[in-house]
Amino acid sequence: MVSSLYSVSQENKTICVFLEVDSGALASVSLELISKSRQICDQLGWQLTGILLGDQLDNLAVDSIACGIDELWLGDHPLLHNFTIEAYSKVTFEMLVEKKPAVFLLGATPNGRDLAGRLAVRLRTGLNADCTDLYINPQNERLICEVSGFGGGVLALIEMADHRPQMATVRPGVFTIENKNRTENGKILPIPVELSNDLIHTRLVERTTGEMVDLTRVPVLIAGGRGVDGDFEMLGELARLLDGEVGATRPPVDEGHIGRERQIGQTGVVTSPKIAICCGISGAFHFVVGIEKADMVVAINSDPEAPIFDFADYCIVADVHQVIPALIEVLKAEREVSLG
Ligand SMILES: Cc1cc2nc3c(=O)[nH]c(=O)nc-3n(C[C@H](O)[C@H](O)[C@H](O)COP(=O)(O)OP(=O)(O)OC[C@H]3O[C@@H](n4cnc5c(N)ncnc54)[C@H](O)[C@@H]3O)c2cc1C
Repeated sequence: MVSSLYSVSQENKTICVFLEVDSGALASVSLELISKSRQICDQLGWQLTGILLGDQLDNLAVDSIACGIDELWLGDHPLLHNFTIEAYSKVTFEMLVEKKPAVFLLGATPNGRDLAGRLAVRLRTGLNADCTDLYINPQNERLICEVSGFGGGVLALIEMADHRPQMATVRPGVFTIENKNRTENGKILPIPVELSNDLIHTRLVERTTGEMVDLTRVPVLIAGGRGVDGDFEMLGELARLLDGEVGATRPPVDEGHIGRERQIGQTGVVTSPKIAICCGISGAFHFVVGIEKADMVVAINSDPEAPIFDFADYCIVADVHQVIPALIEVLKAEREVSLG
């Protein structure tokens, strides 16, 4: 068996979170990881550390401490201004080898996944990818990662016995962001960074931004499946009346009725709305994992045997093309009355 670069006996009792920057702020998934890791560290008496890389990030460093980081390892360098895999993996690798955290967590974002894979290979450790939950085994203080496997048919709980750090990427939206509550005790540790242009083969040519929608934390989700026959305009109208957003199962996405950024489920977005209204959706496991954190689920399906009804709090056996227009009418009428 190949040994990792540092061993269990050399590990520091620390959870380290890679803090991703998104449009000048800490990414939601990083805040989620901080909240979850803070709970675990408080339970174990461990330290919570973070890696923040970029160029002139003093404000974000202070924000990270305010969010609950005990010690922030700050890599500040002009060549870290944009994410490039060469620079980010070099600097993160050096910090991890020097600091030897027991656990290293990243968001399962495009950059987080890219970085995690490279680092796991260099550190010769394992990587639990796309986790949907994290726990600690009270007997041995090892991290337990919940991962869905075999196309989503099973949930596997994985522990890493001999390799360090115990690495995992976690899907955005699975943990709740707790209120910022710690400001006094954290410290910022600037780490010297050595980088030169010839190391970096990636050039940022153009930055384009598509339609931005963050379905992970919308309060109302109107999800449409194959049963809506591509009529996402109808669902959009309902979403607007309820201050919500439209999501979809995979078939309408594959058929081009709606953008892939709105796919809910195992290979889409994991959401935690207050209410999810599932329209013409059968309730396959791959979809349900994306709404299982909803406070309330309403399902509309013409088939009384549809599996989604086993999961829903309110079950409406009916044609979605009749229920949704009727609901829209009622909401519009109510709005007109309230406007006077
Ligand atoms: C590895 C893997 C990953 C996957 N990842 C995802 C994922 O992330 N997200 C995802 O959604 N799927 C995913 N899938 C696909 C998933 O397994 C299901 O096939 C998919 O969720 C089914 O979508 P659906 O419910 O819209 O369609 P269907 O299963 O075809 O169900 C349509 C439903 O609409 C009902 N219906 C039809 N007409 C009406 C009507 N007029 N009124 C009311 N109800 C009506 C039917 O009774 C039926 O229950 C994945 C599959 C694999 C193998």
